[in-house]
Order: sequence, then structure tokens, then C-alpha cells
Amino acid sequence: MHSHSFSGYTSYNNGHRHYYMGMTSISPDVPGHIHYMAGYTSFDDGHTHAYRSATGPAIYWQHALPWVQRNDRDSRSAHP
Ligand SMILES: [Zn+2]
Ligand SMILES: [Zn+2]
Repeated sequence: MHSHSFSGYTSYNNGHRHYYMGMTSISPDVPGHIHYMAGYTSFDDGHTHAYRSATGPAIYWQHALPWVQRNDRDSRSAHP
């Protein structure tokens, strides 16, 4: 069983951007496993954003969170 950490910045929209970080749900060490992820971005421009998504088999962060920049240093080693 394992999980992944993720972090990065959202795209720059409407004059501001947000930072986000967190850990995915825990999943078995098998090919094709998925993780669930949810949380809140940093507080910027007077608000935060909530997000909730899931990864898929061999799918990277930009697919699960299409509005964020890719930062998958953990998933790269854990997903051959
Ligand atoms: Zn995994
Ligand atoms: Zn915002």
C-alpha cells in the first residue's frame, strides 16, 4: 500500500494563482491502481478553491487536475 504527495501552482487566471499540496488516498501496489485526491488551494485574492478528483491507471496529475501544472516526481518512480 502506498500514496503519493503532490504539490504545485495552478494556472494564472483572473490575475492570481494558487498553491496546492496534499497526499492522495492509499492504494495497493498493483498495476492499474488509482488514487483519490481532494483538498483546498492556498488562500489568494481573498478566496480558496476546493478540488476533488481521482487518478486513473497510468494517468498523470495533469489529467486528474487539468488546471494545474504537472509535478509528478513521486508518481514517476512508483508507476513504471
Ligand atoms: Zn500509486
Ligand atoms: Zn482563485
